[in-house]
Amino acid sequence: MINDNDILVIGGGPAGVCAAIAAAREGAKVLLIEQSGCCGGMATSGLVGPFMTCYDAKGENMIIRGIFEEIVNRMVEKGFAIHPKDVLGGTCFSSWIKIGHDHITPFEAEGLKLILDEMLLEANVSILYHTTFAKPVLEDNKITGVTVLSKSGFENIYAKVVIDCTGDGDVAFRAGVPFEMGNEELGLIQPATMFFHMSNVDSDAIEADINDNLDNFYRKDGVNYRSLHWRVTEARENGDWSLNRVSIGLFRMPKKDEWCINTSRIMGVDSTNNESLTFAEIEGRKQADEIIKFFRKYVPGCKDARIKSTASHIGIRESRHIQGEYRLTAEDLLSAKVPEDSVFIAANSVDVHGRFGPKSNEYVPINGDYYGVPFRCLVPQKIDNLLVAGRCLSADSTAAGAVRVMPPCMAMGQAAGTAAALSIKNKHSVRETDVKMLREILVKNNVIL
Ligand SMILES: Cc1cc2nc3c(=O)[nH]c(=O)nc-3n(C[C@H](O)[C@H](O)[C@H](O)COP(=O)(O)OP(=O)(O)OC[C@H]3O[C@@H](n4cnc5c(N)ncnc54)[C@H](O)[C@@H]3O)c2cc1C
Repeated sequence: MINDNDILVIGGGPAGVCAAIAAAREGAKVLLIEQSGCCGGMATSGLVGPFMTCYDAKGENMIIRGIFEEIVNRMVEKGFAIHPKDVLGGTCFSSWIKIGHDHITPFEAEGLKLILDEMLLEANVSILYHTTFAKPVLEDNKITGVTVLSKSGFENIYAKVVIDCTGDGDVAFRAGVPFEMGNEELGLIQPATMFFHMSNVDSDAIEADINDNLDNFYRKDGVNYRSLHWRVTEARENGDWSLNRVSIGLFRMPKKDEWCINTSRIMGVDSTNNESLTFAEIEGRKQADEIIKFFRKYVPGCKDARIKSTASHIGIRESRHIQGEYRLTAEDLLSAKVPEDSVFIAANSVDVHGRFGPKSNEYVPINGDYYGVPFRCLVPQKIDNLLVAGRCLSADSTAAGAVRVMPPCMAMGQAAGTAAALSIKNKHSVRETDVKMLREILVKNNVIL
């Protein structure tokens, strides 16, 4: 397992899982290493959900398919998810948000863990959990292997191609690839959030309260006053609310009495710094405790509400943006450009939280049906046998604020894994990928281009 790999995928989040499955299905010998004990990344360890939209901007056609769609279908079949075709914006499943929130996918994190293990093993991917990438073994402009740390100690793992799906671009960074941290002009980073799942509530009562107040949702001074802002105001006046949020993000899950709470906000967290991450975990749990107490005291149907679980990893929206052959820009997405070397299309809006202060929120839908993301954004500068996929792709901070959501990350992973396998088959570097051929294989595998 350690020495005989064509492709090493580092990080088993939405991007990494799809990269590994895609590469293995194309005949490559693939090892996936993951620092935690499960795959899914933010979707499982971060309890983030639902999967944002996979449809075009009109909400008519499902445009992110491929491995993402297979994962969704398997989850739906087993009762772990609701199919996005059946979910509309403006409902409990979208926290009553309308714009950009049609056809999202509510799912159970526990179900996702099972399905991802199953699909990886079916594709013959070798998996090593509890294995953390430490540093690359470099020879000129190639990574010949990586040093990892696990309970077995320090070990070197060798592979012909490496795909960095760590979210933070740890591999590219340690291999000396240039990067930007957060927003390019000011270095501002989107805030972190401790997700939690809430149970033991009367969902009909919660929904009735919010439905009665829907005409009370408004935006003022760049701040969205949405679900339960009337109750947050009351709690603040009583000294029971100290968070810098005015309303609650609550997304109903497939099980009727369970909700995914996306409300805590921790500013300035640097996920590449241990002290900062540690602070964020502690502060996040403290905020989750304040929020559940708020639910019990102020929200109809919630007097016995429980935290079913807080995330085992603080939710990180942004960190390093690795510099690749092309940097995707917000202008590219908003003007709905589809470059010739696009490896997937998406319509996710720019969704940048709090970078100019705890209450700021930039949500900008695109001007068109969808945009394309070019292969060049997955090809880092400097290192010839490395690809990146997921939220650390080569993009400006605002563009990354759109494609960071999970369906595009999965599509990126599928493209990177397929390109890596092609490079093994045809004995060339990933930089020399024949993108026409790559696109043909992707289309054959149900990717919409
Ligand atoms: C608060 C918040 C709300 C969000 N809301 C939504 C939403 O509603 N819908 C949506 O679709 N998306 C949402 N997102 C975005 C989405 O969850 C992430 O951007 C997405 O999961 C990124 O996928 P990824 O595979 O790039 O990284 P991750 O999901 O972060 O996965 C990276 C994986 O790599 C592993 N790893 C990291 N470093 C190492 C290392 N050195 N060695 C080994 N393994 C390593 C990690 O353990 C993890 O499993 C949200 C994100 C946050 C934080």
